[in-house]
Amino acid sequence: MNEIVLETEALTKYYGSTLAVDHIDLKIPRGCICGFVGRNGAGKTTAIKLMLGLLNPTTGSSRLLGCDSSALTSAIRQRIGYVTEGHRLFRWMTIAGLEKFQRSFFPKQWDDKFFADMIEYLNLPKKKKIKHLSNGQRAQVSLALALAPNPELLIMDDPTLGLDAAIRRQFLEGMIELIMRQGRTVLFSSHILGDVERVSDRIVVIDKGVLRANCSLEQFQKAIKKVILSFADSAPDEVNIDGLLHCKRIEKQLELTLIGTDDEKISEWAKSVGAENYHIVKMNLEDQFIEFTAPANHKRLFQWEER
Ligand code: ATP
Repeated sequence: MNEIVLETEALTKYYGSTLAVDHIDLKIPRGCICGFVGRNGAGKTTAIKLMLGLLNPTTGSSRLLGCDSSALTSAIRQRIGYVTEGHRLFRWMTIAGLEKFQRSFFPKQWDDKFFADMIEYLNLPKKKKIKHLSNGQRAQVSLALALAPNPELLIMDDPTLGLDAAIRRQFLEGMIELIMRQGRTVLFSSHILGDVERVSDRIVVIDKGVLRANCSLEQFQKAIKKVILSFADSAPDEVNIDGLLHCKRIEKQLELTLIGTDDEKISEWAKSVGAENYHIVKMNLEDQFIEFTAPANHKRLFQWEER
């Protein structure tokens, strides 16, 4: 694995009696675009704030670019970009005013040309106040502000929330633009699994505060499969196959969702239970995520790791 730019160790946060983040051990290598996904209330925003040192953990720790999150120096902060949920920007400022303000924090590395090109490409009115911009325009300004200092590590919390498909695509292209500058790393949370599937090469899944997956997107997508088996008479009462996430019975058919079960095993199992035939259905990331995080109809909670 490459150099680790973001690392957490047993990172845990309680809000009163609510356990929001539960002993998360995470390692993100340099140079990836990592989709950070989880259902509403899974703990994504809390984890991101902990990583950035904006919240104190109850127990555990995290490190960004080798520096403890609770003591990020200004030199380290200058190497990190952060886009908040909802794009909180000073509403009374113009885009030009915000640029000047933001540039003052990054005197050495602010890329004037990149910012100007991005504003022009996105057709943003530089003299307009933030409060007079649409949500989509605010999101674009916020991405331009985060990218202009050329951050090594860009962390974004649901940056495309509420944006239309075309603007989301522009936004994601901005992210790819960043990653193409060698060695840059992006972690972004999103509920739009289609976007995560399109741009990420890594996926982190969090579920009720627990880390459930942290691996390459390719591995995750290869691992989760749906298999439909047909039987001449009736489907077996017991389904006992490794990697079973969910099982549905539809008349003489069984629909299984499996994780990490290879095709050979599926074929052997289908034979052993006397299936007439079976086929493996291709799933997109959204379907896989829903199946992976749906309450399992067995007791084991799968955690999917790099293999
Ligand atoms: P969403 O996708 O809906 O934005 P999320 O994955 O970002 O959710 P968090 O906002 O981190 O989830 O919330 C995790 C849990 O912590 C939830 O149960 C939430 O109700 C709780 N929580 C979040 N912030 C606070 C707070 N300031 N005080 C008390 N509980 C909180």
